[in-house]
Amino acid sequence: MMAPPKSHTIHLRLRLAQNHQFLFDYHQVAESMAHEMAHCVYRHHKASFYQLMDEILIEHAKLVASGSMLTRPTAERSLQYHGIQHIR
Ligand SMILES: [Zn+2]
Repeated sequence: MMAPPKSHTIHLRLRLAQNHQFLFDYHQVAESMAHEMAHCVYRHHKASFYQLMDEILIEHAKLVASGSMLTRPTAERSLQYHGIQHIR
């Protein structure tokens, strides 16, 4: 009988640890996600870890380029998404 796939929980920091006023931008969050996804396979930062992380980031870039993913939101699109007309 085959073992069930392992389940992983990924925690991402969205704000600077030293100053919570600042949010990481889209690319920083995507890179952190790729880093943590690679850790689901490799525990340590060895060559195979970085190779997998690169593969994840390349796949991500291809999906963005093909229009299959939402891209980095602009402030304007973010306001539209939330139904906000004007910044006061
Ligand atoms: Zn790490």
